[in-house]
Amino acid sequence: MSDHKLGTKALWAGEAEQLRYGATQVPVVHSVSYNYDDLEEWYQVATGQKEGHIYGRNTNPTTQAFEDKVAALEGAEAATSFSSGMAAISNTLYTFLKPGDKVVSIKDTYGGTNKIFTEFLPRINVDVVFCETEDHDELEKEVLKGCQVVYIETPTNPTLKIIDIERMVKAARKVDALVIIDGTFASPVNQTPLDLGVDLVLHSATKFLGGHSDALGGVVCGDKELIEQVYHYREINGATLNPMGAYLLLRGMKTLHLRIERQNENAMRVAQYLKTLDLVEDVYYPGLEDHPGHDIAKRQMRGFGGVLSFAVKGGLETLHYLLPQMKLAKRAASLGCVQTIIGPPGTTSHVECTPEERAAMGIPEGLVRYSAGIEDVDDLIEDLDQAFKSLPEEIYQKA
Ligand SMILES: *Cc1c(COP(=O)(O)O)cnc(C)c1O
Repeated sequence: MSDHKLGTKALWAGEAEQLRYGATQVPVVHSVSYNYDDLEEWYQVATGQKEGHIYGRNTNPTTQAFEDKVAALEGAEAATSFSSGMAAISNTLYTFLKPGDKVVSIKDTYGGTNKIFTEFLPRINVDVVFCETEDHDELEKEVLKGCQVVYIETPTNPTLKIIDIERMVKAARKVDALVIIDGTFASPVNQTPLDLGVDLVLHSATKFLGGHSDALGGVVCGDKELIEQVYHYREINGATLNPMGAYLLLRGMKTLHLRIERQNENAMRVAQYLKTLDLVEDVYYPGLEDHPGHDIAKRQMRGFGGVLSFAVKGGLETLHYLLPQMKLAKRAASLGCVQTIIGPPGTTSHVECTPEERAAMGIPEGLVRYSAGIEDVDDLIEDLDQAFKSLPEEIYQKA
């Protein structure tokens, strides 16, 4: 399987071992426990000397297929899954951090991750240093002062900033820190951070991996030795992915490469269109040549992703008029779905933050995140066009 290209792996990787009775699709195994007539065999499975399943909080055949498929796509030795992306992030951090440790991260992490850093890790006396997201000199300087974990996200949510992964890995190596990256926005089709030396890549599988906004899940990939530690934390603390969720994510992943290709194209075309509008103050998309991270993105990504954001003149007032006019795009939380989704960070990814905190993170109140679906792009542009054209004259005059 490892010689196959990514698209073929999306279809076939992780499945063979779980197919029974000539079934061509992985079954959803709902059983929580597994029978062993032979006590010796039971003991061997329970102690990890033999492959098998004991209890649903630990492992399950359907979730295993999901984990094996993601690991194959990321080029990882192993993967372990979680009930949500946030569970993957928190469990991974808590696996490797203890009182007195230090994390170096960026200001623009996902809103929930930011809350772990500011609210929960300080309770166990873990210090988190937040650097200006695209200030690589500052990041490098902080890492070299010494830390246990370097935690980055690229592209970031919601302004699509780009971090130079190799540069961070190089700095982290000098101080023996683990590099953990949230790769949700890129998906393994566009970016495989383990190839660049990162220790662990994690995803909110709820987004692009599943792709249909019908299942929550998370996953972390890396070397077997690291993944075993994360798995142990999760099996005890219990944030297990359920079998039906695993099946939905597994099924979604069979079209991952096709969806991402189309979403990359659609996002690029929509970004280019938005650039032509007077009422749009800024468009944030790493595929645009004037994006500050474009050159780094070109080096470390195979595609620029399906998410962009844009800021409108007139801020929230303009958005209050604009968003209800959109006919195709759903105004909703989440991203990476086959259908186009739009939403201001103030009500979605960064709802946990105050307006002041959002401003400090460089998120304008007139910002909208646009997650391109797989619709025909002409229709997506037409939808935006009619929405902008239907705005009252006063909005244009004020802007
Ligand atoms: C959605 C998201 C998460 C959290 O994932 P859930 O599945 O909602 O828990 C983490 N990181 C990023 C970048 C996300 O977009």
